[in-house]
Amino acid sequence: MNTKDKVIVITGASSGIGAETVRVLAKQHAKLVIGARRIQRLNALRAEFPDEQIIVQQVDVTKLNEVQALIDVALSKFNRIDVLYNNAGIMPVNALVDADPEEWRKILEVNVMGVLNGISAVLPTMIKQQSGHILATDSVAGHVVVPKYAVYNGSKFAVRAIMEGLRQEQQKNHIRTTIVSPGAVHTELYNSIPNEKERQAEIETENTIGIAPIHIAEAVAFAINQPDNIDVNEMIIRPIQQS
Ligand code: NDP
Repeated sequence: MNTKDKVIVITGASSGIGAETVRVLAKQHAKLVIGARRIQRLNALRAEFPDEQIIVQQVDVTKLNEVQALIDVALSKFNRIDVLYNNAGIMPVNALVDADPEEWRKILEVNVMGVLNGISAVLPTMIKQQSGHILATDSVAGHVVVPKYAVYNGSKFAVRAIMEGLRQEQQKNHIRTTIVSPGAVHTELYNSIPNEKERQAEIETENTIGIAPIHIAEAVAFAINQPDNIDVNEMIIRPIQQS
């Protein structure tokens, strides 16, 4: 089954990598159920495509009941779910000594619990179907630790571990898993860095070397488009200048 026939649920679809992935998959005629907190952004994205192809649902991925509602909407409309792409994430990075512990909690809740909530909500359906594909946006930050990124690094290392555990546990049920690890991508992610000086420095680097989100979206579509017996376990996609 190629993308054309697939029911695909995407979180963090209101901007950046998620929104661009929606566009790429919608052009390949997938049936999409897209979620994020900014419902106006989701509605604007849906309006780019024909009615009925994209269903929009407001979701905060830190709340399991809202993630379950997103999955249930997809199921009630299409009777199955072929793909869940856990993409939502935040990156308010700061040195450990300067950080507000509340920011640490938020990073872990969105980046780690958000992915776990998605897995928890969709897994019973995919096991029943004996097929499915779960992807998560990880990061080069899930491979390499750098100063000021410790908690974000921790969240993305955790996502890689969770996704690899999921792969090992669920291959027997024909459920594929893909870890998507971008380097610097030109999106709104950097706007949430609390320290003004750090934010400007990161935005400058990202403006200089950051790649367009379409390149990540096309890699996601590549993994989804593989035959059912091919599992693209991980993809690292970074600007050539990034160390
Ligand atoms: P954006 O800020 O453009 O997108 C982040 C998305 O996550 C938005 O759609 C946002 O929607 C959503 N989101 C944030 N918090 C929540 C929440 N609590 N519930 C639901 N949705 C939420 O940045 P990117 O596109 O860059 O980020 C997408 C993913 O890519 C993230 O996981 C990020 O860590 C990862 N990444 C990005 C890189 C980059 O350089 N840009 C590099 C490596 C990884 P809303 O605010 O409407 O809820």
